[in-house]
Amino acid sequence: MITVVGSINMDLVVSTDRVPKRGETLIGKNFQTNPGGKGANQAVAAARLGNTTNMVGHVGTDEFGTSLLDNLKEENIETTYVKRKEGPSGIANITVADGDNSIIMIPGANFHWDGNEWEQYEDLIAQSDVLVLQLEIPLEVVEAFAEMANKVGTTTILNPAPAQPLPTSLTRNADFITPNETECKEIFGMGAGEAVSQFPNKLIVTEGEKGAVYHDGTSLVRIPGFPVKALDTTGAGDTFNGALAVAIAEGQDLNKAVSFANAAASFSVQHPGAQSGMPDRKAVLERLD
Ligand code: ADP
Repeated sequence: MITVVGSINMDLVVSTDRVPKRGETLIGKNFQTNPGGKGANQAVAAARLGNTTNMVGHVGTDEFGTSLLDNLKEENIETTYVKRKEGPSGIANITVADGDNSIIMIPGANFHWDGNEWEQYEDLIAQSDVLVLQLEIPLEVVEAFAEMANKVGTTTILNPAPAQPLPTSLTRNADFITPNETECKEIFGMGAGEAVSQFPNKLIVTEGEKGAVYHDGTSLVRIPGFPVKALDTTGAGDTFNGALAVAIAEGQDLNKAVSFANAAASFSVQHPGAQSGMPDRKAVLERLD
């Protein structure tokens, strides 16, 4: 069983030929609302791959909150631990212009954590095989969950995105840390090859189409990606993390688990949007064959 603690957002996606200048109004091309948020995306990736998946997080009392909850339920994710907090749900205002994304995120309910609210989840974390965390909820909440998981012996995967300085308690308590190359540079101030040797069997850096790299204590281990025609890389990292959680929960060794995650993530880049391209288990196993 996997538990994801993290963000649940509505993505408001506007496509346009170019980004408006300051003070300018443009007529754009298209508008879509897509359920997103790194936490929810990673939960969807894990659930599609067939593992029992719990989501812990907050949505608002607005209509987005209702549809975000409905979406998680449709994906067979256990939503008992998704609380509704007075006020708006988290949103990401995404402008797609000329193939580039510019994003403004408003965390809304994702940041409404009262006191030591996380303490009520200790039993759930203890019963979980893997806990998955990212950094779109307050850092102190992420730290508290990682510490709790460490105490009860549950394996933690921390996807340190969006990148921010990591407190040492978090690097210590997380069993796996999964930045992409840019996040790795920002957080550790080093390229992937150098950084992974500092955290053997813990730091796994994703490298886009090249796959991912970690250090096994003796040497660098490069796990190649699966060549595909990439259409939209949104959600690749989220699919990687959800799939890695599934493979680790099943007891696969790290080498196999990272390959499983690469295979799953390669489907994500073949489809537009984050959740829509996430594969089911059968598809991933066929690609691994
Ligand atoms: P993020 O999406 O967080 O920026 P990456 O770009 O490193 O992270 O992608 C995460 C994973 O998605 C990679 O490790 C790889 O498995 C897969 N992936 C990303 N881009 C491609 C691609 N063009 N072709 C195949 N797999 C890809």
